[in-house]
Amino acid sequence: MSGVVYLIGAGPGAADLLTLRAARLLESADIVFHDALVPRELLAFARRAELVAVGKRCGRHSTAQRFINKRLIDATRRFAIVVRLKGGDPLLFGRAQEEIAALESAGIAYEIVPGITAALAAAAAVGTSLSQRGAVRSVAFATPRVGSGEDVSDWLRGFCAADAGAIYMGIGEAPAIAAALLAKGKPLSLPVAVVENASLPSERIIHTTLAALPALAKLQFTGPTLLLVGPQFAARVTATNRAKNALDTPAAARRA
Ligand code: SAH
Repeated sequence: MSGVVYLIGAGPGAADLLTLRAARLLESADIVFHDALVPRELLAFARRAELVAVGKRCGRHSTAQRFINKRLIDATRRFAIVVRLKGGDPLLFGRAQEEIAALESAGIAYEIVPGITAALAAAAAVGTSLSQRGAVRSVAFATPRVGSGEDVSDWLRGFCAADAGAIYMGIGEAPAIAAALLAKGKPLSLPVAVVENASLPSERIIHTTLAALPALAKLQFTGPTLLLVGPQFAARVTATNRAKNALDTPAAARRA
């Protein structure tokens, strides 16, 4: 047997934000190695597959990356369709490159299926365009997270050079992020939208500013949370014309 590995983006969490290609591959998968962030509802598409959690979640159990690589390679000897399912898009803050390199050096065929990344789901949740014609022409996707054994991060340089940005894996260090952005000359009034569990029924949005961001550290964020930073993320005073979602998902129903 020499199976194929599909590195698939699961999207931000809502099952119906999975791509059709991802859903079809999950339906025919023999084995699925999935992240902790991937909700059960989504795994239900993989009706006939063996499910293996290899998820990494900050501060919780994590399976070493090298071990995941080895398990993917071993699985192709037993199964035709091997799926590696990652939250959001597999190629953004997903350590996919290490898996790709391991598969290439083992001579294993693979394919990548993109997914909706958290920043796009968060922007949809707040109903605000990431880019703004004439004002916000560049958007940075960044993380302050530094893994063990990695060099000191210079994420602020690129982040501050962009007109707006999304910060992944940052809520735990919100006070340090606010201080760092202020030290780089960003204004106290710079709007920040904090979006927890984007696309899920438990979605929560908090509009704040760099000045007030440190105070949020007191709040409990139990789900994945993203920070959207930029002039366009100021809370809007009036509710806008959000259409009722025809599919009547709980999140849409709540907003209506
Ligand atoms: N590959 C993923 C990101 C993995 S890093 C993607 O493309 O989205 C994990 C981080 O993504 C979390 O710490 C959080 O900052 C963000 N994230 C993932 N899902 C999210 C969601 N539904 N709502 C808000 N943030 C989310």
